[in-house]
Amino acid sequence: MGYFSIQFLSIIQLVTLKIPLMITEVLTANQLAKAAPVFGQLSFNDHEQIVFCHDKGTGLKAIIGVHNTILGPALGGTRMYNYASEGEALNDVLRLSRGMTYKAAITGLRLGGGKAVIIGDPQTEKTPELMRRFGAFIDTLGGTYYTAEDVGMETSDMDTVREVTPYVTGVSESKGGAGNPSPITAYGVYMGMKAAAKCTYGSPNLEGKKILVEGVGHVGEELVHLVVQEGAEVVISDVNEQRLEAVKQKYNVLVHREGDFYATPADIYAPCALGATVNDHTIDQLQVKIIAGAANNQLADEQVHGVKLQQKEIIYAPDFLINAGGLINVYAEIAGYGRSEVMSKTENIYETTMDILYKAEATGMTPHAAALSIAEERIANHQKK
Ligand code: NAD
Repeated sequence: MGYFSIQFLSIIQLVTLKIPLMITEVLTANQLAKAAPVFGQLSFNDHEQIVFCHDKGTGLKAIIGVHNTILGPALGGTRMYNYASEGEALNDVLRLSRGMTYKAAITGLRLGGGKAVIIGDPQTEKTPELMRRFGAFIDTLGGTYYTAEDVGMETSDMDTVREVTPYVTGVSESKGGAGNPSPITAYGVYMGMKAAAKCTYGSPNLEGKKILVEGVGHVGEELVHLVVQEGAEVVISDVNEQRLEAVKQKYNVLVHREGDFYATPADIYAPCALGATVNDHTIDQLQVKIIAGAANNQLADEQVHGVKLQQKEIIYAPDFLINAGGLINVYAEIAGYGRSEVMSKTENIYETTMDILYKAEATGMTPHAAALSIAEERIANHQKK
């Protein structure tokens, strides 16, 4: 599909952008959002390409963010969510795609970082035709960006996208793909959590540890399964009552219904819903020793909240490091390796988390900053070659 098809599909903007940091230094985030809702996005910095996709026929409104392709093609899932505004969707995709760059680099994968969001309710607005239109936009990028599942997406949706483009991973095993990445993501989070436990308590064993799992969707439920199996005491919370009931029926867990979830005394908080749940409000409430979960961009502000956690002596296992299992799994579809390599690379998240937490302790950096610096170094070294 070439230029003609791009016109036919009516891409409204396809731009390469480099935003000077300067703008962000003089205005607050709110002022920026009002004055410059697109170029003023704080998360814009250093994106290689941002693609706005619009198709009137299906109602598709999507944004693809390609953050960095130095290590390889940008790979990151598609999130479908009922965003309150287009600005919120743009901010989300840019934060997420940047995170993917560092996730791939810290995990040692030859991949760049990208992500996509579709604006809309996945329950009522997602149709096979909309997914095919979206796939056609991805196809126009010619392999710069590969998609996969994220919130609001199913493996079957990736199968639909696969009908119109080869640049999709996370398709069904019956169609030659690696299948649902969520159990592998959960396994990686479990590894990272055990490493943080080893650093905090001297043992990776989670038996008897009280764990707050926020969000019991695809990944959260698998994580519950793993930690309950090891003898942890688990408290779950979710905005979806059906999910709470379904998980409660299957596992020996407590359901949180009253009071502030974040203020519940426990050993570990595992954010497995959406991002930015580690913020000024929640850090003040939290009574845990460790934060280790699957959600992307858990820290509302990487620097401010990373330091706040450090001051409160809460060990933070960086999200982009410990939730990389799903990426490892879908990368297997491109790199052509099998299940045992997927599992051993995911298990290695334990060692990498230990290294990062030791580095943070030795240098005084926050774990997030320590992980980021290693990822940045890998990208810079590769660029020099
Ligand atoms: P999901 O949509 O299956 O599950 C998310 C769950 O969180 C849902 O049950 C939802 O009801 C619940 N939720 C939403 N808002 C909430 C709130 N405010 N409080 C409590 N619960 C809330 O998504 P998922 O695939 O399990 O992914 C969970 C998180 O992990 C996301 O942030 C995603 O980006 C990240 N992640 C997922 C993968 C993967 O392989 N699926 C990989 C890496 C990162």
